[in-house]
Amino acid sequence: MTARLSRENNENRTICGACGGECCRTRPGIESPERFLAAANPAEELAHLLASGLWVLDTHYGVPYDPEKGEKGDPDRIILYPRPATRQEQAQGSLQVVPGAGECVLLGDGGCTLPFKERPRACRALEPASDFACTSSWTRFDAAREWQHHQEMVDEALALVDTLR
Ligand code: SF4
Ligand code: SF4
Repeated sequence: MTARLSRENNENRTICGACGGECCRTRPGIESPERFLAAANPAEELAHLLASGLWVLDTHYGVPYDPEKGEKGDPDRIILYPRPATRQEQAQGSLQVVPGAGECVLLGDGGCTLPFKERPRACRALEPASDFACTSSWTRFDAAREWQHHQEMVDEALALVDTLR
């Protein structure tokens, strides 16, 4: 597991301005379980976000594994994890992904509308690079590794969503 991020902000106006915001325009970042685990009722916290229409559950196929550590994968496992919706997903009112790249609903004219500390973990972990080959210290594989242990929370949230919309 990676350490909690402590940076104030990862935005680089020069690099990201030249890029035009490709990450936020194509693939909203995944949130980690810790945001929900910090709440009094994690499943309800997740259900409220999903019911807002601004968040969806993305799908990860298979469990990430490291053969050098003797770990074995599970290609049949499906792991759901939350992220902000794309504009297409919001328009369709879907709780699950609409295939294809899309702009994040939380992107405004001046960049992300969320304060840095409230952004999804994948957004906070992104490292802008001048050649636009940006890297991240917390990837969707890390998300799957963490969320595989909290799928009951996701199931509970899904059962609650319709009572909140
Ligand atoms: S983090 Fe990378 S992809 Fe995102 S806006 Fe900045 S340069 Fe572009
Ligand atoms: S939450 Fe903010 S930083 Fe993350 S993809 Fe959406 S607009 Fe970009």
